[in-house]
Amino acid sequence: MAKQTHRPALLQRLPDQVVRLLREIGQLGDERGCQVYIVGGVVRDLLLGHVTLDLDLAVEGDGIAFARLVADRYGAGLAVFERFATARLVFPDGLKMDIATARRESYAQPAVLPTVQPASIEEDLYRRDFTINALAMQLSPGQFGRLLDAYGGQRDLRARTIRVLHAGSFQDDPTRIFRAIRFEQRFGFRLERTTLRLLAQAASTNLIQQLSGPRLQNEILLLFAEHDPARAIARLAQLKLLRFLHRRLCYTTKVKRVASAVPKALAWWARRFPDSAIDRPIVYLMALSSESSVAVVAAMIRRFALSREQAKNVSAGGSRVDRALKRLTNKGTVRRSQIFRLLADLSDEALVLLLAKQVSREQGVRLSLLKRHLLAYVKNRAVKTALTGRDLQTMGLKPGPQYKTILGKLLDARIDGIITTEAEERAFLQKRFGLVG
Ligand code: ATP
Repeated sequence: MAKQTHRPALLQRLPDQVVRLLREIGQLGDERGCQVYIVGGVVRDLLLGHVTLDLDLAVEGDGIAFARLVADRYGAGLAVFERFATARLVFPDGLKMDIATARRESYAQPAVLPTVQPASIEEDLYRRDFTINALAMQLSPGQFGRLLDAYGGQRDLRARTIRVLHAGSFQDDPTRIFRAIRFEQRFGFRLERTTLRLLAQAASTNLIQQLSGPRLQNEILLLFAEHDPARAIARLAQLKLLRFLHRRLCYTTKVKRVASAVPKALAWWARRFPDSAIDRPIVYLMALSSESSVAVVAAMIRRFALSREQAKNVSAGGSRVDRALKRLTNKGTVRRSQIFRLLADLSDEALVLLLAKQVSREQGVRLSLLKRHLLAYVKNRAVKTALTGRDLQTMGLKPGPQYKTILGKLLDARIDGIITTEAEERAFLQKRFGLVG
């Protein structure tokens, strides 16, 4: 039987309306004769003194049927994943909640998704990744807030330790290797000795290679979404895990410096362009692969099954960004339109990386120059020509590739401030291309 303590005050730290909702759901479970628990990260975080609203519920009984009941009662949106015996609810006020059948899991082979069978809450907690995540609180009336700690989760939270529940844990699910580093880095915890040995053992085999691309990508990008990804990358290197991104990935001193400079570059970008949403994990992936060969980066993109946009970003992180950076930090004068052409194909993520590369070189004067160029460039993105393809057609020009060239020249002249009005655009077209209309 799990070790239990009554800690109702812990749950009271959640917002009042959430506590009320959890009480009502516990009551509903009681009426239906099933025990309902709140489990995992939210309980861990409450014990650490943080409030998160990642509401994961486990039901001893039919979790999906119970989720339908809750959704009906509250008018919540419902998505059901039969195969995993889980459901996701979205309440009218936007609150999200996952409800799952408490289960035991069995792995037919390492690294594949498990098959699940209904089980007790103790078994459900046993199939979890680490003791600190294997904590649950009861929601039923009279038991509301009772903490179940069958595997020493509270002890490990106090000792700031990440510990697996059994020796086969990393074999069953190698994503736990990256999860271990994620929690270690996030909380500043240590990997418990045996856990570290088991992790190193699993990392020395090819288990991780058996993970599907999307699962591996998900773990790496989640790790890079944490507070200090440069440190997480260093930890991956120390534990010889970078080889699973690609065995010839170049993790050099330069890469380390660039990754460490990303926060400064991101902060500058966010201050100057608060409306531009940056895919931060991708910037780190770009930084990490920025000294690797084109072939290595291409293989990594395939292995990770990156989306087209992510792939475009990651493959620009090396020589494309370097070329633009070299040009922009050269002393000689460059026209604003030249800068525009140089940067127009790069995403905002690539521009942040470009800045991080310069920040990592610690050259104050050139850094200010680069920042000025970036500010001007982003401003120039809003510049438009008054004349369009339709006007060229009216002028008797047959549609074709020259439209792009001519309108491009017109835009360049606008950006450089050579022309500022539609009349000047028309005069420019007449003079340069003999077009009248
Ligand atoms: P975060 O704060 O990053 O969201 P979390 O602990 O809430 O962390 P989730 O990925 O949301 O993590 O998972 C919720 C819970 O499900 C975890 O606390 C853990 O108990 C369990 N879990 C998630 N992934 C695994 C896994 N790969 N193996 C075993 N248990 C897992």
